[in-house]
Amino acid sequence: MRIELENLERRKGDFAHVYQPEDLNPVDERMNLIAPATVSGRVRLSGHQVFVNGHVETRAQVECDRCLKPVELPVNADFTLEYISGSDYESSQAVELTEEQLSVSVFDGDGIDVDEIVKEQILLAVPTRMRCREDCKGICPECGADKNKGECNCVTNEIDPRWAALKDLT
Ligand SMILES: [Zn+2]
Ligand SMILES: [Zn+2]
Repeated sequence: MRIELENLERRKGDFAHVYQPEDLNPVDERMNLIAPATVSGRVRLSGHQVFVNGHVETRAQVECDRCLKPVELPVNADFTLEYISGSDYESSQAVELTEEQLSVSVFDGDGIDVDEIVKEQILLAVPTRMRCREDCKGICPECGADKNKGECNCVTNEIDPRWAALKDLT
């Protein structure tokens, strides 16, 4: 979904959309949605700036960072975004930007891509290093066995890679 700014009445408007999982999948190489994603929010123009705020809700399935087992989790994200058009951004480069303005996104000046916002918010809401459980033991680098299901018979795999270099010195 894209919001065309020229269609906004009185320079503001509400939006809402339901994305089916297949509309957005894969969200990235390790994440898929397993439920529809609902987004709703409000767009407001102020001068040359566009403010978008809203809420995204869905359920995602992410690979465990250690054992690669799929983990499901709910996503509930509120967002507040600010955009300026590309040409305004370029002219503002001449002026010193304040800390706050650095979080501004640039858009083409005609419309806001809601698909992009939804994907980005889902990615931000999910931890970058997702664990299926706090003490996940991961998979054996030698035989690929899931160590949560019991130790395998590999004996040489206990060296932490950070120490492996030291071992070579002796
Ligand atoms: Zn795991
Ligand atoms: Zn093993």
